[in-house]
Amino acid sequence: MPIKVLPPGLAAKIAAGEVVERPASVVKELVENSIDAGSSQITVEIKAGGVEQIRVIDDGQGIPTEEVKIAFQRHATSKIDSQDQLDAIATLGFRGEALPSIAAVSNTVITTRQPLDPGGFRMEMHWGEHASSGSQGCPPGTSLEVSDLFGNLPARRKFLKSSSAETSRIQELVSRYALVFPGIRFQLIVDGRVSFTSPGNGVPREALLAVYGPQAATAMLEVHGEDSETGYQVDGFVGAPSLTRANRTYMTFFVNRRWVQSRMLSYAVEEAYMGLLQVKRYPLSALNISIPYGDVDVNSHPSKREVRFREENRVFSTVQRAVRSVLVADSPVPNLAPPTDSDYPAAVAPSFFPRSAFGAVRNGSGTPGYPAEALGGPADAAYPQQPAPPLKVVGQLKLTYIVAEGPAGMFLVDQHAAHERVLFDRISQDISDREPQSQPLLEPVSVELSPAQGDTLRSNSESLLNYGFQFEPFGDGSYLLRAVPVIFGTGDPAKSLLDVLDMTAFEGLVRQKEDVTAASIACHGAIRAGKSLTEPEMMALLEQLEATPNPHTCPHGRPTMVHFSSNHMEREFGRR
Ligand code: ADP
Ligand code: MG
Repeated sequence: MPIKVLPPGLAAKIAAGEVVERPASVVKELVENSIDAGSSQITVEIKAGGVEQIRVIDDGQGIPTEEVKIAFQRHATSKIDSQDQLDAIATLGFRGEALPSIAAVSNTVITTRQPLDPGGFRMEMHWGEHASSGSQGCPPGTSLEVSDLFGNLPARRKFLKSSSAETSRIQELVSRYALVFPGIRFQLIVDGRVSFTSPGNGVPREALLAVYGPQAATAMLEVHGEDSETGYQVDGFVGAPSLTRANRTYMTFFVNRRWVQSRMLSYAVEEAYMGLLQVKRYPLSALNISIPYGDVDVNSHPSKREVRFREENRVFSTVQRAVRSVLVADSPVPNLAPPTDSDYPAAVAPSFFPRSAFGAVRNGSGTPGYPAEALGGPADAAYPQQPAPPLKVVGQLKLTYIVAEGPAGMFLVDQHAAHERVLFDRISQDISDREPQSQPLLEPVSVELSPAQGDTLRSNSESLLNYGFQFEPFGDGSYLLRAVPVIFGTGDPAKSLLDVLDMTAFEGLVRQKEDVTAASIACHGAIRAGKSLTEPEMMALLEQLEATPNPHTCPHGRPTMVHFSSNHMEREFGRR
């Protein structure tokens, strides 16, 4: 076939495919236009999953009569007119693609009136072609009616889901926008029945109530966080850890009030819940990240669902910290510690150890830490023991937690997280003392890496060598392992390397580089849940934890301990 330029109608249908994937994408574009038009009320009406009809009616600024036809031309927009503005987009729309794309694959009627104009204007289009137009009396604002969607693209229509599935996508979409624009009154009418209304009174919690219902809404916690250096802000709600779902659908993110999908943001929230949720359970969240328009590229995805951040790490940590601090402040010990308790408002008790005990640092005197070997560390690397340990070990729970008693009450210490913290600090200290602890293997071991593991090894080779691994290429994706960090002394060396590479790859997606290797090594080296510990081992671990500068969280940010204060216990048992 010779090369030729496609006729405009066919080109328009192809271009429409990018923007208008399904009925929900039409609703999204129209609702976004209504929001950009400064509306305070937006009504969405759909019939048969939106395929038969979609109508979006707003009370926004309307379109001047003489511009209505232009609005349906490709790349016609009132929102930007220069490159500078493209670099810092403040409106939801900017490409001028939605109206022509929607019109190309449906029958469209627009009725619009600017508030100060005496009357309005109506225009009808059939499959992208002008059909009729003229003045028309109507209230101020804009109404767009889209009928017989994909009627001229049977292939696309075949791929649509059932009308109830398309309806629920639209319900989800409208309710998400109601959450992030609490000042707009949204109404969704499905096949003639009102399915959702938001109050539009500007109160975020009332929008939340409309979307999630009273039960879930009362179990949601308000988040507000700000990174003082970048000014990035996070606002919204997250579910209390008791409120979970089986998948990530209920984690909603907005960037400058644009609904986006982002694995990075989901990770940030999931990290904040680390240690608080069961595996395979996911939190609810509705968070808006406000960042300078120039720090986010919203023009990187055909339907603008994904965005790129200039400082991904900063966004990650801003979200993770904001959410974590709310969770920690809310209810450190579910059902036991009321969030209003003034004694210990945080999950991690400020007085886990008496203040004086925090001064302890490694003194290099080589105090033999008797049980340290049992914990996977060499005796001479142990932290000095305290002459009078402030915490008494009561026992071990579920082979996972150490139950301990101190002057401030009871502590549950996660043995893996605690040991991770100890090892992490130790290897970080070794690095800063320039004494990486490496243990040569008696016989070098050949390790076969997957291509992904090979990539991780090559891109992190410097820090892996720094932390005590020694290896060299051995052909065909294999490596010859000659030494491992000393804390892996007794384990399977090949497995240690593979585990650390896998963890590094995962962690590397979301973290600062230097920490990644150390955190992965600490995690692999730390005692696991399920390991029975003797009392001296538990005591040693608590002492070593005490000596770290940051005993309350593991290197991943999870708590190492939760606290039940004496006051709580007394109150719970009615003794006070
Ligand atoms: P974009 O939103 O990217 O500018 P669209 O094709 O969605 O492109 O819309 C084209 C133009 O039509 C917009 O820039 C805006 O000026 C106008 N417009 C569309 N919908 C509305 C509306 N509901 N109210 C007021 N103006 C609208
Ligand atoms: Mg638009």
